[in-house]
Amino acid sequence: MKKEQPSWWRPWVLPVLLVLGAIAVQELMRAQQPAPFSYSEFREAVAQGKVESVLLFPTRIDGHYKVGPGENPRTFSVVRVEDPALLEELTRHGVKVSGVVPDSPWMSIGMWLLPLGLLIFVNLARRGGSTEPGGYLAVGRSKARIYAEKDIPVRFSDVAGVDEAKEELSEVISFLQTPEKFRKLGGKIPKGVLLVGPPGTGKTLLARAVAGEAKVPFFSISGSEFVEMFVGVGAARVRDLFQQAQAQAPCIIFIDELDALGRARQAGPMPHEEREQTLNQLLVELDGFDPRIGVILMAATNRPEILDPALLRAGRFDRHVLVDRPDRGGRLAILKVHARSVPLEDPADLEALAGMTVGMVGADLANVLNEAALLAVRRNKDKVGRAELEEAVERAVAGLEKRHRVLNRLERERVAHHELGHALVGLALSGAESLRKVSIIPRGIAALGYTIQVPTEDRFLMTRQELMDRIAMLLGGRVAEELVFHEVSTGAQDDLLKATDIARSMVASYGMSESLGPVTFDDGKASPFLETGPSRVRGNYSEAIARRIDDEVRHLLEAQHARVRELLGAREAVLRKAAARLLEKETLSGEELAALVAEPGSGKPLEPPARDAA
Ligand code: ADP
Ligand code: MG
Ligand code: ZN
Repeated sequence: MKKEQPSWWRPWVLPVLLVLGAIAVQELMRAQQPAPFSYSEFREAVAQGKVESVLLFPTRIDGHYKVGPGENPRTFSVVRVEDPALLEELTRHGVKVSGVVPDSPWMSIGMWLLPLGLLIFVNLARRGGSTEPGGYLAVGRSKARIYAEKDIPVRFSDVAGVDEAKEELSEVISFLQTPEKFRKLGGKIPKGVLLVGPPGTGKTLLARAVAGEAKVPFFSISGSEFVEMFVGVGAARVRDLFQQAQAQAPCIIFIDELDALGRARQAGPMPHEEREQTLNQLLVELDGFDPRIGVILMAATNRPEILDPALLRAGRFDRHVLVDRPDRGGRLAILKVHARSVPLEDPADLEALAGMTVGMVGADLANVLNEAALLAVRRNKDKVGRAELEEAVERAVAGLEKRHRVLNRLERERVAHHELGHALVGLALSGAESLRKVSIIPRGIAALGYTIQVPTEDRFLMTRQELMDRIAMLLGGRVAEELVFHEVSTGAQDDLLKATDIARSMVASYGMSESLGPVTFDDGKASPFLETGPSRVRGNYSEAIARRIDDEVRHLLEAQHARVRELLGAREAVLRKAAARLLEKETLSGEELAALVAEPGSGKPLEPPARDAA
């Protein structure tokens, strides 16, 4: 006969009881502490010599006030803030410091050891020992800290090559300097500003510079430090952050690496509970605070596409500031900033250096100068010469090649003409205001250059003519290569794929082909070229129809190809001239390109060509 278990017994009961016990113990410890007050009040009390002794915990400070003889002891407790000057301040005012050495990991380990053990046990029971990252093995290394800094020494002049971003942020600064004035004028007050750009372009630096310029306190926390926390801790930390900041308005709250904590919430069997709780808390705080008290929320990310859409909604991080890779002029400006502390043999070398460092971001450039200075020291020179600079660039380029391709001169020429092909067609077909910029600064592994058109918002309806213009623009890169180099390269493959996709949709989905007539052959899926990836259009139709579709697609593409050849052929002079300019400057704005086109001797003016070329 089987041994009877009590009826309430289940395998999960024991771990649940243990966890409840652990929570109860923690709650009890918390309940015994006196009500918290703000960190700044605490610092004030220290400065006024009212504090007798403190006990430092990694996330909290408990302490005793000085009391007269016979009086009852008075205690306090306050959330701890990262504050490098604290220890010195405490010693200066003769406060007895005891307990944990600041920043010692041992205390936090000790504090968490008991519940950690329980949690591991529970997780083991629940997941059967899974070791997926973010599972129990990663737990307990939580280190998310709130950094509170007052007089930030960084200024806008320390950040270079990002003039557009600075311009957008200057409004934030004037708001922080005089929130009352803003309020009275009823200006639209910024609330959440998201800095978006590749790593090392100066996003963190820029956020600090905003605080430095506005002379306001800077509260920061890094998203990546949140990821390994216990359920509930991250959310509590976010709450603390907002509470402390609000008490010190005007100020800035900065969340660095927002993507680490603001990733889209996943549906699915095992959502990441801790991150979601933290993210939810952040959303709550975002909605709950009123920017009129003078708190600006800033965040930075290099992966905006993975952020939870809820974060980007109106009233949250709805203002986006692009911090892009610098072009040649930008690189020179950044080099000048960092060369302030590096003695150079010839300051003119920086110009050449800017030309040699295509694709590098601010952090890379700072590194190059640093490396060059070290080389000079090693060679017993008291100034950095051209040789050291060149050697430092070579080293940096070797590292850079792992991140994206570094093009040789011929490739760069080809990319410049290719991109201008796109841009000139775009300019001719839809005007200068639709073209934001052309660039040959590499972006990631795949894109060698890029042409940005406005508006970038999603289109839900497009006419036949617009679709054909779009195909024409896509073919522009390839045709420019044909005209100038008399052969095409592999660089146009992606363009061709997209153009073919549009043409196929026009024929098979939208009934826009004259020979096939107003029929659709697709299965009702969403328009394929508005998403990425090849079209999935393939309904039920015969081989004969399939062949007619293919013929029609080819016909459509060939007609657009001929149209673009004529259009660019008449503008070859300006194509070559603009390419030379682009090679030198690396980016051209829509207006700059339009101005080049308007110069005399640029060939045919760019009035819109005949609309029914197809
Ligand atoms: P991000 O946060 O975008 O990854 P950081 O702000 O951390 O980049 O930049 C790292 C360092 O690189 C900065 O501290 C600074 O020394 C240098 N740097 C980056 N961008 C710039 C810039 N635009 N101007 C001057 N220095 C820069
Ligand atoms: Mg950063
Ligand atoms: Zn292209």
